[in-house]
Order: sequence, then structure tokens, then C-alpha cells
Amino acid sequence: MEAGVWILHCRGCSNVFDVPVKADESIFTHTKTLRCPLCQATPQNAGDWHDIVDFKLPPLN
Ligand SMILES: [Zn+2]
Repeated sequence: MEAGVWILHCRGCSNVFDVPVKADESIFTHTKTLRCPLCQATPQNAGDWHDIVDFKLPPLN
């Protein structure tokens, strides 16, 4: 249901980055655990979580 590419916004450096999410994963877990690829801040360092900006469906194979 949540599978696809989510766009997250880092509260630490305002970087916006893509996060691929598989069907058995939760984007909400990623917002609280993923490290920002630009500033390397954990969500805890950056303000508890990364904000969800957008969602793109995966390309159909
Ligand atoms: Zn960042």
C-alpha cells in the first residue's frame, strides 16, 4: 500500500531526498530512522523525524 518512492525533507539541512519503500516496509519507520544522505543527521538529530514531502508510485514493470 505504501510501496513506492517517497520524498522526505530533512529538518536539519532542508535536503530533499528519495526513499524507496517496499510493500512490507513502513515509510513512517523510515522517517524516524533514516540518516539524511546529505548532512548525515539522524532524525533524532534533525528534529525527531524527516518530513514527508511527496509520494511517487513505482514504475510498472
Ligand atoms: Zn540533512
